[in-house]
Amino acid sequence: MTDTILVINAGSSSIKFHLYDIEGPQELSPRLGGQLDGIGTRRPRLRVRNAAGETLVEREIAPGHAADVPNAQEVVGTWLSGHLGGAPLAIGHRVVHGGPDLAEPVLVDDALLARLEALSPLAPLHQPNNLAPIRVIRERRPEIPQVACFDTAFHRTHSDVADRYAVPERLYEQGVRRYGFHGLSYEYIAQRLKKALPDIAMGRIVAAHLGSGVSACAIHQGRSVDSTMGFTALEGLPMGTRPGRLDAGAVLWMMEQGMGHDEIEHLLYYECGLKGLSGISNDMRELLASDTPAARRALAYFAWRVAEGMMGLGCAMNGIDAIVFTAGVGENSPQIRQAIADHWGWLGVELDPERNARHGPRISTEQSRIGVYVVRTNEELIIAQHTLALVRPQ
Ligand code: ADP
Repeated sequence: MTDTILVINAGSSSIKFHLYDIEGPQELSPRLGGQLDGIGTRRPRLRVRNAAGETLVEREIAPGHAADVPNAQEVVGTWLSGHLGGAPLAIGHRVVHGGPDLAEPVLVDDALLARLEALSPLAPLHQPNNLAPIRVIRERRPEIPQVACFDTAFHRTHSDVADRYAVPERLYEQGVRRYGFHGLSYEYIAQRLKKALPDIAMGRIVAAHLGSGVSACAIHQGRSVDSTMGFTALEGLPMGTRPGRLDAGAVLWMMEQGMGHDEIEHLLYYECGLKGLSGISNDMRELLASDTPAARRALAYFAWRVAEGMMGLGCAMNGIDAIVFTAGVGENSPQIRQAIADHWGWLGVELDPERNARHGPRISTEQSRIGVYVVRTNEELIIAQHTLALVRPQ
């Protein structure tokens, strides 16, 4: 029987999972992927597809069986063991925060779990959910090795200056630093460029992850040197439901208006961004299909501020050799890519409409002063690779 690696990405309302067959010493091929969503709602649903995209299972789960992430993890585990007839060789997890020091994925033990739990105040909406399945599996199946892969790790190559805000040093010492996120996606992009576009891979690259969360990263010689996200995943570019840049004074004003911590937190994480600006939706496809002035304004804001933030990263590298778009919007929307690039005409950046419509890989004209590319991200594969490398070192 082929050994497998299981990858788990647990959020507050969904658990996504991917299973890979180990084909060679470092070779992985996807076997299936699925998700249990609607955790904590009245209609949780389990969906699994094989690598060809055929549905293996799609059914509702009794709400009592998926009331929270640990419960839901049991449902996923039961389905997987029934389907696989054997345990995976190891399980890799996406964990949002690795703190200031963890720059690589690590094998989970009790000391590490305690260390990661202590980071929960830095990512209260994500870290506890990411850790819940690790704890459940550790209790039920302690013999299966687990690996934690961090969204912050790829950014630990930042300089001392890139790591800071202009605040008193004691706040930095207490952890108010620019950690950066989406690192697993950028690590995949850096790796993929080496294979697919070796001419640019070692150059000065600005990669933009435009999904539900949105950020950009300056990558030089394959390493992250700056990111638009910092202390939390709220900073930087506008997102589906998060504002990105926002004057800290606005938060003080909300407090003066009597808003409490939870209310402000909910507003900043779930009510802002495209959703707040448009009043319609956080889903880019819905906004593109709408002709209301508010939807058009939301798209215009998005394109402008993303374009501005991406070019700002050029200062970290004293120039930009290539631009890479990735994730849901970045990979699939020629219209948004064009709207962003329209702000770069003064820099000599020019997209080729036909290449852009075909989603690249190169979408800029031959004359464009900076090459612009589309690369599909694959965070799950990076997690699976790291997990395999840690349990079967070469
Ligand atoms: P996440 O994995 O963080 O949930 P994704 O990377 O899947 O996010 O990106 C989700 C976003 O991508 C949504 O705003 C969705 O509307 C957008 N998206 C997906 N496909 C398209 C498309 N064909 N055109 C425009 N936007 C798209």
